[in-house]
Amino acid sequence: MPAREDLWPAILEQIQRTVRPQQFDTWFRSVQLGGYSAESMTLQVPNSFYHEWLRRHYLETIQEAVLQVTGRRPAVEFVVRPVPASEETPVAEPLPRRRERRPAAPSPMSPRARDYYPTDWMSRLNRYYVFDNFVVGASNALPHAAALAIAENPGHAYNPFFLHGGVGLGKTHLMQAITHRLLDNGPEMRMLFLSCESFMNHFISAVQHGETERFRRIFRGLDAMFVDDVHFLARGTKEATQEEFFHTFNALYNAGKQIVLSSDCPPQELTRLEERLLSRFKWGLVARIDAPGFETRVAILRHKAQLHGRVLPDDVLQFIAEHIDTNIRDLECAITKIVAFASLVNKPIDLDLAQQALRDTVHHAATALTLDDVVRPVTQEFRVKLSDLQSKRRTKSITYPRQIAMYLARTLTRHSLQEIGRYFGGRDHTTVMHACDKIERLRKEDPSVDATLDRLADQLRRRRDRHDG
Ligand code: ADP
Ligand code: MG
Repeated sequence: MPAREDLWPAILEQIQRTVRPQQFDTWFRSVQLGGYSAESMTLQVPNSFYHEWLRRHYLETIQEAVLQVTGRRPAVEFVVRPVPASEETPVAEPLPRRRERRPAAPSPMSPRARDYYPTDWMSRLNRYYVFDNFVVGASNALPHAAALAIAENPGHAYNPFFLHGGVGLGKTHLMQAITHRLLDNGPEMRMLFLSCESFMNHFISAVQHGETERFRRIFRGLDAMFVDDVHFLARGTKEATQEEFFHTFNALYNAGKQIVLSSDCPPQELTRLEERLLSRFKWGLVARIDAPGFETRVAILRHKAQLHGRVLPDDVLQFIAEHIDTNIRDLECAITKIVAFASLVNKPIDLDLAQQALRDTVHHAATALTLDDVVRPVTQEFRVKLSDLQSKRRTKSITYPRQIAMYLARTLTRHSLQEIGRYFGGRDHTTVMHACDKIERLRKEDPSVDATLDRLADQLRRRRDRHDG
């Protein structure tokens, strides 16, 4: 292990290898090491905004770097560095929420449930994911109205409630808003909010430990069950889990208990699920969340800026809304970037500053790449021909680049799974889905895959920017 004064520089060097230069400059340059022991490490950050951002986005990266350098896994904590008042950056804490009461810490489950369930079964609720913070527009009005009705009348209004839509469009937010409201109205309700993955993991672990009876008692005794991202059920191969999910569903449904599910695609596209489960998903209300239109994007941006304690000029809001139309998470990132940039350069936020802060992002989102564009660098990188990628050939030297190309197509173009499948030799949309899952997984597991993908994406952006210019 390096000497204490070399410790943080060594960790920084490690981090620098894994994040992009601009992100490194923005988020890590001003972080300093506070205390360090085998059990804990304290990092000093300039303000609470860094605190939140680093914790949410880079905690794992930091932990991994610390492990690499020290061989240990201390708990990493952030503290805001005390600064002389004159230097204080003008970043405000997010505003406290208005009407709805909320305890300081998110209440992970109702008191009655707490006696009943292992405490780690319920996912942590995000305390900002409440109805008050959900901006309603044409793209989400129906699911929002349904969610409100369910929160008032669980088990009766719409059951099950199946919410679907692309990533970052508010599915988790809306589901948790129902959970929060139910907890506020009836803290004694037994409910669990968990990701589908977490449902699967609990089940598998119950089977391994001979505790399936307990698992069933817990799930089948719920008053309301929220399972987020059920498309995972279709992608895993664990049939036993599907079977268990089916029986859990039936038990709750028959007892008139509320079931709320979310998925990134409509039920009919979950083709790997058993028909009997699929048809049940459609028994209640199936509602889609769409990407928000311009007006709603502006309203969402205004609301998000308020959470940062900022009022942004209209021309800035409109600029962001014009250029970022992918999803709400991207809108949030844009606001965050602008606010962070303004604090770093210590200037008020105006159109000019916003344009600077979003230089990379906006280009990225503004111009649509075609499927041909995406495939070109892949064929060069892996020395394969387009016709190979579009052929039926299934040797590894072809399937891997084909999966990479599908993944890039999915993440960098606006084409649907179906269109991408068709382009790559008339393949089924589930093949594309499978490819994306696989590359996503590889990307997490193998830094070299991640680096290759970063490089290809960069190349694509540069190529496109040349076209623009
Ligand atoms: P999904 O689960 O569909 O991928 P999330 O619920 O995680 O999306 O939403 C992504 C981010 O966008 C969250 O921070 C959420 O608060 C925000 N968001 C989504 N929809 C809205 C909305 N209508 N109003 C305000 N914020 C929203
Ligand atoms: Mg989600």
